[in-house]
Amino acid sequence: IQNVSKTYKSAGNALTVLSDISFSVEQGATVAITGPSGSGKTTLLGLCAGLDRASSGSVALNNVKLDQLTEDERAAVRNRYVGFIFQNFQLMPTLTALENVMVPMELRREKDVRARAVELLDKVGLSARANHYPIQLSGGEQQRVSLARAFSNRPAILFADEPTGNLDGETSEKIEKLMFDLNHEAGTTLVIVTHDLELASRTSRIIRLKSGLIQSDQHA
Ligand code: ATP
Repeated sequence: IQNVSKTYKSAGNALTVLSDISFSVEQGATVAITGPSGSGKTTLLGLCAGLDRASSGSVALNNVKLDQLTEDERAAVRNRYVGFIFQNFQLMPTLTALENVMVPMELRREKDVRARAVELLDKVGLSARANHYPIQLSGGEQQRVSLARAFSNRPAILFADEPTGNLDGETSEKIEKLMFDLNHEAGTTLVIVTHDLELASRTSRIIRLKSGLIQSDQHA
């Protein structure tokens, strides 16, 4: 991303939350983004993943410049390269765990969707909960469903927003292992927003944000 700024405008007020941010991440790297609450971490992750548009500057994924694309074209790039894990899981409440994992594959009109969703749930250790609805699952179980869903397109890059926030130590460890296994086995790039310094210390690079600016950028 190059010279990226983001200003939110609402009710006549303008709030600049990111100012002239530039950095690049190589394929296969593992990066933690840390910083105080409100420093712009979630906003930055959303821009990098093409979920939202920068106010100025440019964002590219796999050499595809996202700023020049329409919303549909950006969605196509996301479907192809990106997995995203949200802070609050964002599972569809009316669908079972299995169906939640199936949705993105169905949208991509893939084959053997049910069988692959069964496999993905097995990988995250949730086969026994396949037919449960999100409300019937614990936070850690919901997060594992969201990981299975994010893995379904074998993403080149996985963005995770506080993937272990609000989870106990043992469950956090499981989630972290799943993400780092994906990095080791498939070379998936990891970009993780986290307040958890232990998780950050496992990555190869830590970018600290403060008030919408990069305060430090440390490589391990
Ligand atoms: P936290 O650690 O608390 O999740 P963060 O570092 O991820 O915080 P952001 O969620 O990126 O921070 O928010 C940065 C600032 O932008 C905050 O002041 C927030 O209130 C504001 N903000 C975020 N989204 C919007 C929006 N859609 N409209 C207006 N302001 C927003």
